[in-house]
Amino acid sequence: MLADNLFLKIIDKRIPAKIAHEDDLCLAFHDIMPQAPVHVLIIPKKVIRTHADIAPEDQALIGHLHLVAAKLANELGLVQGYRLVINCDEHGGQTVPHLHMHLLGGRDMTWPPG
Ligand code: 5GP
Repeated sequence: MLADNLFLKIIDKRIPAKIAHEDDLCLAFHDIMPQAPVHVLIIPKKVIRTHADIAPEDQALIGHLHLVAAKLANELGLVQGYRLVINCDEHGGQTVPHLHMHLLGGRDMTWPPG
């Protein structure tokens, strides 16, 4: 249910997570099944189901998520680079219906992704 998805429970602290950053607009926490030495999810507190649902009024919010990602990459020592991923819906491989950005780093990434 969109009104009570898994990530909203993490925002509300009903489900524990290892939090890397929190502010009024977003939460960042370590992925429960990390795919790289660093794997952090950055999510808006606003309910946006998926990337395709981003609206013009979300422009500053989406920019903020990127600034937080860059700040976290620096704080987490990803000096050799990192990858940001947003999976959108079924073909994109999205499993949690709340917009989230993956920050992955600490190893070489391959291209193309699977
Ligand atoms: P998606 O596949 O939707 O792009 O990414 C969802 C991510 O959420 C996955 O990488 C998955 O491991 C992570 N995830 C799923 N459930 C939990 C949870 O309860 N806690 C945390 N920290 N991450 C989760």
